[in-house]
Amino acid sequence: MDLGIAGRWALVCAASKGLGKGCAQALAHEGVNLVINARSEQPLDATAQELRASNPNIEVKAVAGDIGTDAVRQAVLSACPRVDILVNNNGGPPPGDFRDWTREDWQAAVDANMITPIELIKATVDTMAANGFGRVINITSGAVKAPIDILGLSNGARSGLTGFIAGLARQPQLAGNNVTINNLLPGSFDTERLRNNLEISAQKQNQTIEAIREQRVQSIPAQRFGTAEEFGTFCAFLCSAQAGYMTGQNILLDGGSYPGTF
Ligand code: NAP
Repeated sequence: MDLGIAGRWALVCAASKGLGKGCAQALAHEGVNLVINARSEQPLDATAQELRASNPNIEVKAVAGDIGTDAVRQAVLSACPRVDILVNNNGGPPPGDFRDWTREDWQAAVDANMITPIELIKATVDTMAANGFGRVINITSGAVKAPIDILGLSNGARSGLTGFIAGLARQPQLAGNNVTINNLLPGSFDTERLRNNLEISAQKQNQTIEAIREQRVQSIPAQRFGTAEEFGTFCAFLCSAQAGYMTGQNILLDGGSYPGTF
């Protein structure tokens, strides 16, 4: 299926590894030019090289830095000749107990996982609307639908973004001009972040990583973790020409983990 987006430009944040990289790879496969970002230069450049090699017909630019800062947001926007597609992604807030969190901890989480995507959306959607095409995907978390107790900072900050997007996506000046904004909610995907979390759980519970991994996998109806590749392919479809009638949605990709009927 031709997704009808070859030649467009996408800005994919936090994309040297994991889910962001999966999205960049799938968009590259569709012939989309890319600006990718992450903090560490070396893995980011390596990913940019991989993407160029995967499709010699596209241009790939890499901008290193913390996407939570104004300067880096300006730099990624300046590097992108035209943002047709925006994939908002960032590191997730740390786990913990709300009794230990300070005002600064909350501000950092809200800044990274709510205000940063909103700032990038603000900088791009009106031009998308003027061009008659725009796709915004926010990578949030299954925790928005089914909160995870130790991830209170994530539950709170990402739910704030979700509430805001629900209103924004329905503005006729956006939806009526073929600009869609949707949230992708990952369950358990086999990325470096997930592997680090398994290691921490294994240490805490004095078990092997393999044992913890097996317990987690058994709790998922699909009996496996998701892959960044399948996450990216789904994201690319949401960015397609064909996906123009879907906006303001929260789509769970979790192998059936969420137990509700809807
Ligand atoms: P990952 O494998 O650790 O990759 C994270 C990527 O983001 C890396 O490229 C990292 O590169 C970049 N990054 C982190 N902080 C950044 C910042 N401040 N500015 C720019 N780039 C930054 O993580 P992932 O599993 O793909 O997770 C991506 C997002 O999905 C996270 O918010 C995570 O909480 C959420 N999520 C993941 C899962 C899952 O199962 N994997 C489930 C639910 C939610 P640098 O470190 O070099 O910056």
